[in-house]
Amino acid sequence: MDDETEGRVWCHTCDGDGHVPDPKAAIIDCVPQLVIASRVCRWCKGTGRRHSLHPPA
Ligand SMILES: [Zn+2]
Repeated sequence: MDDETEGRVWCHTCDGDGHVPDPKAAIIDCVPQLVIASRVCRWCKGTGRRHSLHPPA
């Protein structure tokens, strides 16, 4: 067993990317638009992985 990966799982919130899309309305050139920004994933803090608190059943 690889002890390095044990207890870690991919972050499902950001799909391992570490960032999640953060759509927000913005006014650009007087035109309301939906801008997709990216923000650091709050769950994995940008690492893309989460510690598995509970082993999969
Ligand atoms: Zn994440």
